[in-house]
Amino acid sequence: MRLLIAMMKHETNTFSPVPTPLARFGNGPGPLYGDAAIRAYRGTGTGLGAYLDLAAREGAEIALPIAAGASPSGPVEDAAYKHITDTICEAAARGGFDGIMLDLHGAMVTENLEDGEGEFLKRLRAIDPVTPIAVSLDMHANLYDAMIANATVVTGYRTYPHIDTYETAKLAGEILLRAMRGELNPVMTWRNEPMLPHVMRQGTDDHPNKELQNRCAAMSAEGALAASLFTGFPHADITNAGLSAVVVTDGDRKLAEELRDELLGRAWVEREAFVYKLEPLQQSVARAKAMPSAQPGEGPIVLLDHYDNCASGGTMDTTVVLAEILRQGLEDVAAFAIYDPSAVQQAIAAGIVKTISNGRYKNRGPMARGAAMDMGPAVVLDTGAAEIVLISRHVEPSDLNCLSSLGIDPLQKRYVMLKSRIHWRAGLGPMAKAVVECAGIGVCTSDYGQLKFDKVRRPIYPLDLPNR
Ligand SMILES: [Zn+2]
Repeated sequence: MRLLIAMMKHETNTFSPVPTPLARFGNGPGPLYGDAAIRAYRGTGTGLGAYLDLAAREGAEIALPIAAGASPSGPVEDAAYKHITDTICEAAARGGFDGIMLDLHGAMVTENLEDGEGEFLKRLRAIDPVTPIAVSLDMHANLYDAMIANATVVTGYRTYPHIDTYETAKLAGEILLRAMRGELNPVMTWRNEPMLPHVMRQGTDDHPNKELQNRCAAMSAEGALAASLFTGFPHADITNAGLSAVVVTDGDRKLAEELRDELLGRAWVEREAFVYKLEPLQQSVARAKAMPSAQPGEGPIVLLDHYDNCASGGTMDTTVVLAEILRQGLEDVAAFAIYDPSAVQQAIAAGIVKTISNGRYKNRGPMARGAAMDMGPAVVLDTGAAEIVLISRHVEPSDLNCLSSLGIDPLQKRYVMLKSRIHWRAGLGPMAKAVVECAGIGVCTSDYGQLKFDKVRRPIYPLDLPNR
């Protein structure tokens, strides 16, 4: 058996000013290729890790032409998109594969394409019309017809924070392997609803996405090979931004459509619960200040600077929330992080800072366990009241090691400010005594009224449709 395995992942915030050249994909100078990619991802709790484990179990020969993943940012530069897709398509064109396993995101927009993944899959299908293709997608995928029409099976994450990236790819891969053996005949059906769930309301610890994702999981006992509800990524002004569902069954299209429609119907009923309601910043910080001090071992109060979340395309360099924290005199604060490469260099040159680091660490998990992270040269400044981390590459604080690798123990802090929305819960959630959401400034605005949507299909809730 020969398998073609590849990764291309980017969540594109079309409102983000952060550029997305090829160098943003991968840790260091760019994506990883061939054996280097295999070495980096084998044994990790990632989508690629799952595909590599399946291939090893089956004794399959593999080709892994490229592993390219970038933190969310603005539209992907056409040259970067061409390089990544050319690399995969050239491998496919050499032929001889029994199956293709792809770890994609589903919300990639390029300078010229609304649907990066769909256009890529269409091209791949044209090169090889026969070989079955498995695709695993992020829960924030904004689905298009071309993604479904040109794949054999598509699965999506059921957790946010995304701690099931491995399981999602494994499910897609297992279905593909069974289809390759002729044991299954996957049929897929998808559709979207006219709604843009807010990212701050999409967490799967919370109502309503918790119940919706549980319902997806339960459908496997009712004939679904895979049922996925994508909450979508709303910070993308493209036709198909928003919520959608895909259901895969073994040859039963009618059942797939019924289950799909049930998921979408349940989500629509809950649309108001997906709307985020905002508290003024001054009030949030004052509320945090008034909270009682933690007892030993109780953990910090987490202050979420969620408007500037780099994992949704934020620049990670706005200081409005940090300034308010300092202005109101909160003490014993750790802040992760401010993206400012030149300030890092100045601090290193000055030499009198708390910590200087190369910014590399490996995830402790549960999210992307074992994956190598790179925040670039990093320093910790200590004002007395606050330890402030400055970094040179965008990294969302979703893993305890982003802080512990810099010598900060968040459990010993009264407050921890994080530039994150939901993913911080994966590695840092269990330690939080309380959480205060702080609306500062950034491209991940919680008020859709501040964003200018031109291309998204209309009408769409909550931009146009009243809640009836
Ligand atoms: Zn996501």
